Amino acid sequence: MDTEKVESLHFIEQIVEDDIANGKHEGRVLTRFPPEPNGYLHIGHAKSICLNFGLAQKYGGKTNLRFDDTNPTTEETEYVNAIKNDVRWLGFEWDGEELYTSNYFDQLYDYAVQLIKDGKAYVDDSTAEEIAALKGTPTEAGKDSPYRSRSIEENLDLFERMKAGEFPDGARVLRAKIDMTSPNMLMRDPLIYRIKHETHHRTGDKWCIYPMYDFAHGQSDSIEKITHSICTLEFENHRPLYDWCINSLGIFPSRQIEFARLNLNYTVMSKRRLLLLVKDGHVNGWDDPRMPTISGLRRRGYTPASIRNFAKRVGIARRENVIDISLLEFSIREDLNKTAARVMGVLNPVKLVITNYPEGQVEEMEMINNPEDDSMGSRKVPFSRELYIEREDFMEDAPKKFFRLSQGKNVRLKGAYIIHGTDCIKNDAGEITEIHCTYYPNSRSGSDESGVKAKGTLHWVSTAHNIKAEVRIYDRLFLDETPLGHKDKDFLEFINPDSLKTITAYVEPSLKTAKSGDRFQFMRKGYFCVDPDSTETDLVFNRTVTLKDSWAKKNKKK
Ligand code: ATP
Ligand code: MG
Repeated sequence: MDTEKVESLHFIEQIVEDDIANGKHEGRVLTRFPPEPNGYLHIGHAKSICLNFGLAQKYGGKTNLRFDDTNPTTEETEYVNAIKNDVRWLGFEWDGEELYTSNYFDQLYDYAVQLIKDGKAYVDDSTAEEIAALKGTPTEAGKDSPYRSRSIEENLDLFERMKAGEFPDGARVLRAKIDMTSPNMLMRDPLIYRIKHETHHRTGDKWCIYPMYDFAHGQSDSIEKITHSICTLEFENHRPLYDWCINSLGIFPSRQIEFARLNLNYTVMSKRRLLLLVKDGHVNGWDDPRMPTISGLRRRGYTPASIRNFAKRVGIARRENVIDISLLEFSIREDLNKTAARVMGVLNPVKLVITNYPEGQVEEMEMINNPEDDSMGSRKVPFSRELYIEREDFMEDAPKKFFRLSQGKNVRLKGAYIIHGTDCIKNDAGEITEIHCTYYPNSRSGSDESGVKAKGTLHWVSTAHNIKAEVRIYDRLFLDETPLGHKDKDFLEFINPDSLKTITAYVEPSLKTAKSGDRFQFMRKGYFCVDPDSTETDLVFNRTVTLKDSWAKKNKKK
């Protein structure tokens, strides 16, 4: 994790450097990020974004943003806008306007016609079941379709009539004529066009045939003259088809390179499953702070830099692995430690009365905003006779090692005085309702002449000056490390019923002007950010992360 040390190249950087050294494509580097607009982006996409845009930045190249919109059923403009917003928020800008695979529908159609004319594609009238029946298995060769030997003229005629809308959905498909005995199932005459009488979010009703992913993706790369087309490992066995299409058409030779996708424990990442969580109300939308989406992480308080640093730490490899979510949390702590102002907020308040402090007196205590960064300055926090402290910071009969407040012991109030615990008042249920203490008037922070010692320091807010705030405390959305790793159980069964708790806290008055998105460290309590639900009168905070890895502690106890 030492960012100072010289970083070695990962295998894709190595490929790019070799290509540049060999003058391939005149040393040009053009990558692309190709999301399908069927959901919001997640942290896995962030890894891909950082990789593609990062390579271009490093090697003086550019990156296209291309929406892979070949499936009219699931794609929506809302997703397009959210994706653009998320990429920009992460700190990247694509080259020119955003692009769409649908921009190339005419060109892709012409490519298909070219394949037919070259005897490399045919129209198949078989049903999906009939096609599947002849496909063979990984250990058994497939068999030729009875339509495979159709004449070029007949294929051209039928394909044109497919386009003209003469046939219903599923009646016919266009297939590449490759090899039904190939050991690679994807090379056994894959479908390249299908009939779908559906309105497309951009091309409307112009088309009723749509290219399949494998026919659209590589050709789109080629049309854009992408030099390095980076995708995740599950596309490795698509590469022969990717190359077959490009070679058969004799078009620009983009090169596909695969890397291991990001897998994170305690969450799920496919857009399909995330959509289910949203639709079924398990979370409050795509940007729910418990979601692994970029918009959820943003709302939770993650910074773009923390996500970029996380992607860097995870690294680029060829082998699948699972990353512990604590690495993501480490990245945001590291960033906020440097950038977030320290403030005081009491989450579980109990009243503290300083019996020898003058009634009605208020002192303004000067507090440093961030000891890591002097330029962040300081602020004043009002101190008075009655304060709130955390309930768990007081113990009546405390053991020796309890360095917080107890009767007969000293403790410092952050930025203020040393106090001495004297007494506490309880209600009928035995619950402490008020703690009494005295203070040492000459122990004020910064000018302490008391000679009195105190081991611990507590945060506090003045009862007369605090602001009430709603604080949303999040825990992991899933209780199981691998919610998808159980054959007999649905991942929804592992949802953590306590992943969101809402409490009322008292925070210091300087937070009155806090705006949606502002991030703070509540001293001793963690990092918090202001939620967009916040209004001028009702502050709402999200807990981004605790100060320490509380799960690591839990696991040790086990
Ligand atoms: P999902 O199943 O979540 O929808 P996808 O791969 O279908 O993922 P796309 O929108 O097609 O989503 O992906 C856009 C790009 O992001 C692709 O290049 C894809 O390889 C990459 N990507 C998606 N998920 C991950 C991941 N977990 N780690 C790294 N890259 C990813
Ligand atoms: Mg997908």
